[in-house]
Amino acid sequence: MTIVRYDINHTHDGAAASWVESANLPGADFPIQNLPFGVFRRVGSGETARVGVAIGDAVLDIAACDDRGVFTGAAAVAARACRGSALNALMALGPRQWSALRARLFELLGSGRAEEVTHREQVSPCLVAQADLELLVPADIGDYTDFYASVFHATNVGRMLRPDNPLLPNYKYVPIGYHGRASSVVASGTPVRRPLGQTRPEGADAPIFGPSRRLDYELEVGAFIGPGNGLGEVIPHDVAEAHVFGLCLVNDWSARDVQQWEYQPLGPFLAKNFATTVSPWVVTLEALAPYRVPPFERATDDPRPLPYLDGPEYRARGGIDLHLEVWILTEQMRAQGLGPHRLSRSNLRDLYWTVSQLVTHHASNGCNLRPGDLVASGTVSGPDRDGRGCLLELAWRGTEPVVLPTGETRRFLEDGDEIVLRGYCHQRGFARIGFGECRGRVVPAPGVE
Ligand code: CA
Repeated sequence: MTIVRYDINHTHDGAAASWVESANLPGADFPIQNLPFGVFRRVGSGETARVGVAIGDAVLDIAACDDRGVFTGAAAVAARACRGSALNALMALGPRQWSALRARLFELLGSGRAEEVTHREQVSPCLVAQADLELLVPADIGDYTDFYASVFHATNVGRMLRPDNPLLPNYKYVPIGYHGRASSVVASGTPVRRPLGQTRPEGADAPIFGPSRRLDYELEVGAFIGPGNGLGEVIPHDVAEAHVFGLCLVNDWSARDVQQWEYQPLGPFLAKNFATTVSPWVVTLEALAPYRVPPFERATDDPRPLPYLDGPEYRARGGIDLHLEVWILTEQMRAQGLGPHRLSRSNLRDLYWTVSQLVTHHASNGCNLRPGDLVASGTVSGPDRDGRGCLLELAWRGTEPVVLPTGETRRFLEDGDEIVLRGYCHQRGFARIGFGECRGRVVPAPGVE
């Protein structure tokens, strides 16, 4: 594996454009500099899912392009790995093949080249309109892990529980995480049923069983693992990013009342594993190269990361300047014809632990990470009030209800509420690239409709 970091190259050229006109519109999430991967099928067709790359408002079917013989060398190896109905085989390959496929797709879809006419003839039959498609969970996720990498989130939550001692002493040494549940990771747009569970009402001695009354979302970013490591092997920090295929948006739905009653002594369980929504497009680390920044600046009296989680590349550009937003659309807003209302804004660069640190730490005991595994960041909160990445923080455990444009208030989510996560990067001299949306609407608990 030769590539361990991505330099900025011609595929990041901010002036580049595509002959797929919708990709060139200002504010488009999927310009030619992005080229994120996903899995699709025609709505209602029940056909086998296929691997595609988003370009403007269309998707390029990679296997169909390969049938036309447009790939050679390492790009062809990568394209062959796109013949399944999930991204796992592509993720298993590694940066050299990923990068070769990206470079060739950039060529095929680019405008203003001598070969443009040929390229259009070759691949335009392989374009399908996104509007006609159902977008699926992009990989067969073997294992899903959720971290707790935002010091602002950890401090806010800690302050609610332990006002005098919000942050536990291990936080600044060890990335805290838990094993989530892969079977209930769902595609954007899948309705989320309010879970039933045990909760103990305030002041009561014994718990009751029924619908959660404190349902929440969590704004997170997920990393899909590439080649990964064998059992008993580790992933050194300086090559960790070669083991990350790309990033997506994640909503880690959480039942706070269930969580509060069950979390001691072993941590989250049924409060978290009823649904986790992922966005359909995986933005590759190579596409993110122009938006790399130094990692979160630790306070001078904070400990340095231990050597296995440190390193020059991490110090230079371990962070990613990824803007994140949470929007809500309630039943009443929908009835009044209103659009979604923004609840918060934060940024991935404010995480205390970077993606590379999470991956290296996860494998540091010899735990094997496999292609298609999902490693999520934990709630991405920022330093300010409008950067709080979940309702628990925004409404401060229900004590400061959030007021919506309809006059409605929210302490936690109501049935019919739809949560939309969005993410994008921009940098002077480079294109704006977006992550698309991660959507989910709360539907009533079983037996309540
Ligand atoms: Ca979480």
